[in-house]
Amino acid sequence: MTASTQIQLADAIVKAVGQVVGDAPRLVPLHAPEFSDQALANVTECVTTGWVSSAGAFVTRFEQDTAAYTGAAHAVATVNGTAALHIALLLAGVGPDDEVIIPSLTFIATAAAVSYLNATPHFADIDPATLGLDPARLAQHLDNIGEQRDGACYNKQTGRRIAAIVPMHTFGHPADLDGLVDLAQRHNTPLVEDAAESLGSTFNGKHTGTFGRLGILSYNGNKIMTTGGGGMILTDDPDLAAQAKHITTTAKLPHPYEYIHDRVGYNYRMPNLNAALGVAELARLDTLIDAKRRLHARYVRALEAVDGATMFTGPHHAECNCWLNAIVLDRADAELRDAVLVALNNAKLQSRPVWQPMHRLDTFTDCPRADLSVTEEMAGRVINVPSSAQLVEL
Ligand SMILES: *Cc1c(COP(=O)(O)O)cnc(C)c1O
Repeated sequence: MTASTQIQLADAIVKAVGQVVGDAPRLVPLHAPEFSDQALANVTECVTTGWVSSAGAFVTRFEQDTAAYTGAAHAVATVNGTAALHIALLLAGVGPDDEVIIPSLTFIATAAAVSYLNATPHFADIDPATLGLDPARLAQHLDNIGEQRDGACYNKQTGRRIAAIVPMHTFGHPADLDGLVDLAQRHNTPLVEDAAESLGSTFNGKHTGTFGRLGILSYNGNKIMTTGGGGMILTDDPDLAAQAKHITTTAKLPHPYEYIHDRVGYNYRMPNLNAALGVAELARLDTLIDAKRRLHARYVRALEAVDGATMFTGPHHAECNCWLNAIVLDRADAELRDAVLVALNNAKLQSRPVWQPMHRLDTFTDCPRADLSVTEEMAGRVINVPSSAQLVEL
């Protein structure tokens, strides 16, 4: 592609994105939170009553409301999504010297949580239609490198156990959960969903994060709803839920006054102040999602006029929360991608490339991996554009 066609395409994309965001004041952020009056009232209640920390009624209520919203039998609130994933993997049985299958195209938290347990990420490729783990290609890979021993799946090449499979639902688009649930069962490997980005997204009518043994959500400041910082562990298993609560609250045994802890736990409980925001935000999440879907529809239409790029829409059997909009360039071309990013950001339309694939980071270059050609290609084609709910009428 010549420099002038690059500039032409970059200009066309800037124009399309500019049309979508309309007269929103520049700089238009990639994603900004939006709070209701109820959020402020709940936070004020915490401050005036003094219930700001890890004990308090909002935390339990937020857990109950989240379980009801997602259809998970149990929800356990944590300080952030990374901590939730750390504990979910721990409870799925991941330990030192295990390997955990994760997509290479993900936010660092997915790989970091595996490393916290002294386990090794094992990178698998994505399906270009979902941007999530590709079950068919993962099945092939496991047929090549895996073997069943003692009721578990082992990597023949490294001798290590493959202790879990962790799909991630990129930008809110559900991965092929039918295929992944089936694959995990066939290989006797627990599925743990990183649903950090997909609160409100469903697959065949069932909420993401509820397909595996455990799943997690995130309420970081840039997610579809935020508690400032926060996360949630989802599970249908009452025993795992009880363990999750125990381990995330310093493993302290109930006692009227003694401090007795029966293992090394974590101080991972979400504070009441954050949960106060969560209760209010969750109550209007469907309004936010509705706004997101209208914004997404606008983007789809605007990008139809652009030759050389499309809006990523995801698979049809899944209902996406439309958290973060992504433009996909027709071809992987580093120079083109950079030209588009520069043009968008110069126009004060804050835009970002998709993450560096994990296997390219120095920390993880030595980790085992499947063929990652789709990841390599998509990493050069995907650009996230402004996606705040308030860009459309709420
Ligand atoms: C946001 C996110 C997390 C969790 O992040 P926290 O900031 O710790 O809440 C985990 N995985 C993915 C893919 C994410 O996008």
